Amino acid sequence: MLTQAPRGTRDVLPTESYRWQYIEEKMRRAAALAGYREVRTPVFEHTELFARGVGDTTDIVQKEMYTFQDKGNRSITLKPEGTAGAARCFLESNLYADPLPCKMYYLDAPIFRYEAPQSGRLREHHQFGLECFGAQEATADAELILIAFRLLSELGVQNLSVHINSIGCPNCRPAYHAKLKEYLADRVNCLCEDCRNRFERNPLRALDCKKPGCQEQVRNAPSMLDYLCDDCRAHFTQLQACLDSAGIPYRIDSRIVRGLDYYTKTVFELITERKDGNLTVCGGGRYDHLVEQIGGPDLPAVGFGMGLERVLMLLDEEGIRIPQPPLYDVFVTYMGDHRIRAFQLVEDLRNQGISADLDHCGRSLKAQFKYANKTGALLSATIGDEEAEQNSVRIKNMNTREEKVVPVSEAGETIRMMRKEAE
Ligand code: ATP
Ligand code: MG
Repeated sequence: MLTQAPRGTRDVLPTESYRWQYIEEKMRRAAALAGYREVRTPVFEHTELFARGVGDTTDIVQKEMYTFQDKGNRSITLKPEGTAGAARCFLESNLYADPLPCKMYYLDAPIFRYEAPQSGRLREHHQFGLECFGAQEATADAELILIAFRLLSELGVQNLSVHINSIGCPNCRPAYHAKLKEYLADRVNCLCEDCRNRFERNPLRALDCKKPGCQEQVRNAPSMLDYLCDDCRAHFTQLQACLDSAGIPYRIDSRIVRGLDYYTKTVFELITERKDGNLTVCGGGRYDHLVEQIGGPDLPAVGFGMGLERVLMLLDEEGIRIPQPPLYDVFVTYMGDHRIRAFQLVEDLRNQGISADLDHCGRSLKAQFKYANKTGALLSATIGDEEAEQNSVRIKNMNTREEKVVPVSEAGETIRMMRKEAE
């Protein structure tokens, strides 16, 4: 128990964190290109926020939340998604009083869901999410889809397809709900238990249920797109015009309804087709009434969430190599008597912004070189008896074995030069 992480969690090891940093850097850049700035909100919120915001007919709220009483007897929940917390923060800090839209992103936000762990499905995962508050135009929806698409394409994700749908608004959805219920009424006994339970309040969810039995039953279900009101229809047409103008391929997919209650109008997913079945990397949509629902002004908004573990999994599967930076520019090796000199040199180099290290484990000179090789250091800098006597250092390119002996005072300069040549 003690040495086993809880089920459905994963460590990111020091040897692999560069892969995370690589995609994080691209994500920050993608967000910044479109004027999104970072927001950081707490890992936990009052349970009520998710019950009201996410909706109590959702799987997340019904089954998946990590909820507990804190010592002050408040009901607290670890974030099961990123939007509700961002919306709460937007409200609490009166950001709606600033010129709108208010564009924000979060990166590496830990998300907790009590799900059955399997490939690509964890109990703690991390999301890159963007939220745009106060924008009603479909240009905002399209911008988000394009940010996600461009980012994933640049990272090298293959077979990516964009699925879009509109699930209408409180004006037009009730009529569709009624139609869908009518259609499902005869079939309700063939639906899975979850779909049966939410049939009354949220029949839409049967459309994207992953159980084969349910998929079979909804095959010929009526489509929301035939019931959109004029406003929703115009919005959906605008969205398509924006995507067309950007020249990206997309599919209209009336099965995409998304799991959360707060969505209105646009919903979308970026899906990759792979051998082991399709994988959704990114999901989002418009949530025009969420802000009001949690006690704020009636204000439109749109956003998406993208799972970092899933992005990394896809890059892995597709054999996309992420460049690994060397641990050090230079590894300082020394003979035992000259430990302090070596230590001083390392500190001196670090002060000059050169990444350097020395042996801390009492290795012989030979073993130090071996170790330096393993770290991928491009250069070594050696202080032996001779160098110590002359107050010099022997700098070597670990690949070409080219060497230079220079006064210690010139070590930094020489290392910089040889480091450039070694790349
Ligand atoms: P799924 O249909 O796969 O359950 P979802 O609709 O529940 O996904 P969202 O709530 O839209 O997912 O979350 C946004 C993104 O976060 C997903 O597209 C996915 O990349 C990632 N994600 C969601 N749940 C998990 C999980 N349990 N483990 C790892 N990544 C996840
Ligand atoms: Mg899910």
